[in-house]
Amino acid sequence: MRIVKLTATSSTSLPMAPDSTPKPVELGVELPINGARGDGMYVHVPFCRHKCHYCDFYSFVDAQDRQEVFVARMENELATWARVQRGELQTLFVGGGTPTMLRPELLDRMLSAIRGMLKWTAGAEWTVEANPETVSEEIAAVLAKHCVTRVSLGAQSFQPELLAALERTHDPASVARAVGRLRNAGIKGINLDLIYAVPGATIDLWRRDLVATLELNPEHMSCYGLMYESNTPLGVRHKRGEVKAIGEDVEVEMHELAARMLGDAGYEHYEISNWAKPGHRCQHNILYWNNCNWFAAGPAASGHVDGLRWRNVPRLSDWLETSGFAPVQDVERLDVDGQVGETFMMGLRLIDGMPGERVQELLAKGARATVRRIAIAKFRADGLLEEVRGQLRLTARGRMLASEVAIALL
Ligand code: SF4
Repeated sequence: MRIVKLTATSSTSLPMAPDSTPKPVELGVELPINGARGDGMYVHVPFCRHKCHYCDFYSFVDAQDRQEVFVARMENELATWARVQRGELQTLFVGGGTPTMLRPELLDRMLSAIRGMLKWTAGAEWTVEANPETVSEEIAAVLAKHCVTRVSLGAQSFQPELLAALERTHDPASVARAVGRLRNAGIKGINLDLIYAVPGATIDLWRRDLVATLELNPEHMSCYGLMYESNTPLGVRHKRGEVKAIGEDVEVEMHELAARMLGDAGYEHYEISNWAKPGHRCQHNILYWNNCNWFAAGPAASGHVDGLRWRNVPRLSDWLETSGFAPVQDVERLDVDGQVGETFMMGLRLIDGMPGERVQELLAKGARATVRRIAIAKFRADGLLEEVRGQLRLTARGRMLASEVAIALL
């Protein structure tokens, strides 16, 4: 059985080889910039303290020498988005990299620009990613000053040997320290990210990770299975046979254990890899899963507006040399079939699935409509999809085979 493993930020900051040659195009030519409606905004900060060997996001070790020019360029890109923005944004996600690597005064300046330049709905959800060891009292105070509603902490594990296997440099105690500082500063929503199926992990160690996480009482938890991406050092070592992945059956057992323990602790399982206390689902990620529109700022940030997807030029030095909208690459305008397929792929990741009327509306569109109708009927007969209270959703077994279902509906 295969568990679908998509990271929360996989649709926001695409992987790239550091030495790949970008082929940027004129953004203004490609994007519908004359009054673009955005539902959310993704901002990418590429700095990290250390490059973890499993990570395929665009990030690198920060030499502290380009933070100021980074923030100045970001202000310029945000001002450009502000000129074309129509309506109000509902969610912000500042990811990376490690946004909290920015010096407090620069994080303060960047968040001020985001707040002041763009239009936001009252009570907009604002999430900032952080690594535990970067959450000083000063950083926590800056986040609280800007009314950040959620901080997503990369805990990954509480077992020193598993953190070492992931090449994570933080000490497990730093997670509780960071949570304490964020709570003291007044941050109301905390997400903890965990990674399971790490080489060397056992069911017992995974249970201990879940217990340690629950003791910190976060409002939200994301649990991802480790992925061996081909463009990472870990992926290369795995391909050479130097690192052995955990068996899929154990991985499935770990996912099921998380579902049981978190469910018993009162968390709602609302997406394949995500759990939340009632009222604390991540609205920004829901926006991705519902295939809504989001703007993107920063190197390697990916955006989507009305079926048009793109990625900003993925090298900091190239991005810094430009002004206005970032040059973009990987521009893709999805046709009707592409849009329908993506809507199914993302929407079925939600545990509640998709409303029946929406499904019928989608099944009436595109050249692959009949193929999709037949596939859905077959998956229902095979017990992978079901209709519950007017919603089409994956069954528990279907969630383990979500990739196969998604591919058939693309
Ligand atoms: S801290 Fe996060 S973004 Fe930075 S290298 Fe590690 S996994 Fe990647």
